[in-house]
Amino acid sequence: MRFQDLRDANAIRRTEWPGDDQADTAFRALEVAGEFGEVAEAVKKMLRAERGIKGSTATLQDVADEMADAIISLDLLADHLGIDLGASVVRKFNKTSQKYDLRTRLPE
Ligand SMILES: [Mg+2]
Repeated sequence: MRFQDLRDANAIRRTEWPGDDQADTAFRALEVAGEFGEVAEAVKKMLRAERGIKGSTATLQDVADEMADAIISLDLLADHLGIDLGASVVRKFNKTSQKYDLRTRLPE
């Protein structure tokens, strides 16, 4: 999947989502923080299951689902701010590789 595919689908779905017009920058940023927090929570619950710690548990699929929510919400915030997420990932990945003198680069 390309980032642009997600951006296009998010744009269409936003038109279907009741109340989306009320989602400003602050709302989108809080949404991102919440979804990334849900990733951490799912990992904690998965570790709980693996270690036999009493309490609610999660599976690897639950973790994957929350990671997907996190990326989807991040694209919504990026779109709101006019950021091309795919181009930003390429630029920052390559910048970090250059900083640490590593050969691996994403194609621009
Ligand atoms: Mg979620």
